[in-house]
Amino acid sequence: MKNKKKRKGVINYAPRCPYCGSTTVYRSATGIYADNPDNVMLYVCKRYPVCDAYIRTQKGTAIPIGVMANGKLRALRTDAHKLFDQLYLKHYMSKNTAYAWLSSILGVPYKKAHIGLLSEIQCELVIRETKKLLSWHDSHKNNSQRRFKNYGTDANADAGC
Ligand SMILES: [Zn+2]
Repeated sequence: MKNKKKRKGVINYAPRCPYCGSTTVYRSATGIYADNPDNVMLYVCKRYPVCDAYIRTQKGTAIPIGVMANGKLRALRTDAHKLFDQLYLKHYMSKNTAYAWLSSILGVPYKKAHIGLLSEIQCELVIRETKKLLSWHDSHKNNSQRRFKNYGTDANADAGC
């Protein structure tokens, strides 16, 4: 609702490293990424590689996507993303619904529900809750198949929910 004031400060995108407090350098990901065919640009901690923190930017802009992360947090975000994406890749829900669910478990507005914004603790939360939801859907799917097979035997008559 208060998005308007964000645009005022012009080029104030360069973040400070949240790990060591250093300033960051805006540079190509070449040399950091194993491969950089799209010429991705990053903000990299000035103390890189001693401090392993960076964040990529939106294509064609200097706007960072999310919050700077070190190696551990990047790995956690990757894990969280892979799991989370299963929710809509397996067609358990639409992508929009999945992000609405993400915003609800994080307690943040829908527009702020992005894996790139997650902290380590939030990643762990998303991983745990996504696993639960996926296994619920997996077993729900199996249950309804079983119910269908056993139709008429009364075996699962109390399974309604
Ligand atoms: Zn740093």
